[in-house]
Amino acid sequence: MDRVDCVVIGAGVVGLAVARKLTQAGREVIVLEEAEAIGTVTSSRNSEVIHAGIYYRAGSWMARMCVAGKHALYRYCAERGIPHRNCGKLIVATSPNETEKLQSIKAHAEANGVLDMQLLSGEAARALEPALACDAALLSPSTGIIDSHAYMLSLRGEAEDAGAAFAFHTPLIRAKSAAGFIEIDAGGEAPMTLQCSLLVNAAGLSATHVARNIDGMPLDRIPPAYLAKGNYFSCNAKAPFSRLIYPVPEPGGLGVHLTLDMAGQARFGPDVEWIETINYEVDPSRAERFYPAIRKYWPTLPDGALMPSYSGIRPKIVPPAVATQDFLMQGPRDHGVAGLINLFGIESPGLTSSLAIADHVAELADI
Ligand SMILES: Cc1cc2nc3c(=O)[nH]c(=O)nc-3n(C[C@H](O)[C@H](O)[C@H](O)COP(=O)(O)OP(=O)(O)OC[C@H]3O[C@@H](n4cnc5c(N)ncnc54)[C@H](O)[C@@H]3O)c2cc1C
Repeated sequence: MDRVDCVVIGAGVVGLAVARKLTQAGREVIVLEEAEAIGTVTSSRNSEVIHAGIYYRAGSWMARMCVAGKHALYRYCAERGIPHRNCGKLIVATSPNETEKLQSIKAHAEANGVLDMQLLSGEAARALEPALACDAALLSPSTGIIDSHAYMLSLRGEAEDAGAAFAFHTPLIRAKSAAGFIEIDAGGEAPMTLQCSLLVNAAGLSATHVARNIDGMPLDRIPPAYLAKGNYFSCNAKAPFSRLIYPVPEPGGLGVHLTLDMAGQARFGPDVEWIETINYEVDPSRAERFYPAIRKYWPTLPDGALMPSYSGIRPKIVPPAVATQDFLMQGPRDHGVAGLINLFGIESPGLTSSLAIADHVAELADI
């Protein structure tokens, strides 16, 4: 049986950041990925926004990882020439009630360490974005966008340069914890059995399933899994905005917002659709709810401009009735299995947080 030091399950943005961190700390790492390539699941089905860290509960992992991860990610991109743009975002109020809420959003952001938010009058917001309809707005200067594939390629390259190996088409089937090590059965075209001293479960939507297949992992420490799909619509009209535009959030979601990709193309979404089984089709009829919501801040959105685009699925560990969740990152002290780290519920802002999550994994592993 082959023996390796560390095994990372999953080559999404989080598994890649973890593999880079561990190899650069001098550890031997193999990444097992069931798909044919890196980043084919949630890491390529998101908004590619570098989030500022505004809304998350103060003191939560999401708040802390997002703010730390944002700074680390901007630095990482700047040093390596990864395409990104610190374009900023406007949260727009379109009623007196919403205008009142902007102040509390700013205070909440400040509690999270986001200290650069600026309250703007409607006129000041329109001086930045002339096509915008709003009574007032909150500018988040540290929000941005990133070419997530260029970022993931860079993480993979740096991990490989430091000695990491990648095995694609290689799903973890089961594992068991034995004295001092974890034994892994991997399937696929070239099934293998491996022993390792550190196993990092970064399997995204499958993280709870993977944990259930690890003999010795206490079942009562594995959270339930729910799926919340987010649908996107692209826009065949040129959107006249250079910043991301978000409505004031409503209970249950961030509202229908506009993000831009690195080519300047606008997309709207993601919405929230709770589903039982994984499917990525976008139902065109959902556009009916998008038009009135978008026209509150962009009244001249033409009829017929929205086209179904793509979707991503949030790995939820709380049911729909629970408004918020947090990242659940467990090390041996949390579940009692030596050498095992589980990363559950890594939904947004997981991309923004990826470098900070990797640092935290190294701490959990006492590296
Ligand atoms: C709609 C949507 C919008 C989002 N927008 C943003 C955003 O704008 N900004 C932001 O910061 N974050 C955003 N996120 C969150 C971000 O996309 C995720 O947090 C991040 O991509 C999670 O990365 P991951 O590596 O944990 O998971 P994944 O990318 O899903 O990677 C997990 C990998 O594990 C592999 N795998 C699964 N099971 C096994 C197995 N048994 N054996 C081997 N491999 C396995 C999978 O094939 C996959 O490649 C968004 C998420 C969604 C759903």
